[in-house]
Amino acid sequence: MKFEAIAVENIPLIHAGDDLPSIICENIELQDRDIVIVASTIVAKAEGEIFRLEDITPEKMALEIAARNGKDARFIQAVLSRSKEVLVEKPFMLVTTLAGHTCVNAGIDESNIENGFLIYSPENPNASASSLGQELEKLSGKKVSVIVTDTNGRAFKIGQTGAAIGVYKIKPIKRWIGEKDLFGKILEITEEAVVDELAGAANLLMGEGGGGTPVIVIRGLDHYCEENTFIKEIYRSDEQDIIKKGLRCLQKKELNLKNKRFQS
Ligand code: GDP
Ligand code: MN
Ligand code: MN
Repeated sequence: MKFEAIAVENIPLIHAGDDLPSIICENIELQDRDIVIVASTIVAKAEGEIFRLEDITPEKMALEIAARNGKDARFIQAVLSRSKEVLVEKPFMLVTTLAGHTCVNAGIDESNIENGFLIYSPENPNASASSLGQELEKLSGKKVSVIVTDTNGRAFKIGQTGAAIGVYKIKPIKRWIGEKDLFGKILEITEEAVVDELAGAANLLMGEGGGGTPVIVIRGLDHYCEENTFIKEIYRSDEQDIIKKGLRCLQKKELNLKNKRFQS
């Protein structure tokens, strides 16, 4: 068994309005069942998700959080504008984005862009993956899957890895439940986060710096799915998410403590 991971070369610096599917197809001949992995940074750039820090006016909540965590209130305003919940304020902003992805700073980056600018994460990365995929299939005439990725930290471990934030025609999870192990025992729990594993593999070739390789094609693994697929399948429901429940408790306690100190 083997598969290939190919970094697509000659991708230019991406600007608002650029036609990513054409740029990709000009630089690689796609084959049936390729998995095209695209860094969210260039998807966001193409979608015009670039903002000047100095143009952002912080509102009340951003100012309050900035007073507590010492960060730039304009940056916090940017993060809040893409978040539906703040889980941690300090030492970093851990939020759940409008699209339901939980990550630091709502995926807003200051790297790989000119000084003074922010790159927001695509607002609906699954829709971005889907339109990218449809265009790639039209242009190439091949059946391809797409994963839009970002670099994320993880709970419990040091070190960031690639993570999927949008998918097209690939199921986020492979369920092993009901399959047999080497000894014939039926597996009861294991669900494999296939799209995160692929994002991690692709990230090895993308890197985080000035490599200029935001598009990786995985060839030789067949995960093509005929139906539309959705990244939200991978997010735990609020009911099942014990880590979020714990963080909410902590957050409440800290705010209560601060208010008490303020009052006394
Ligand atoms: P993220 O993980 O989606 O936040 O993206 P990164 O900022 O980590 O960048 C991933 C890869 O894309 C790196 O190899 C960057 O050099 C590259 N990259 C970022 N922006 C551009 C761009 O506009 N053009 C090209 N060719 N590469 C880019
Ligand atoms: Mn990023
Ligand atoms: Mn990255």
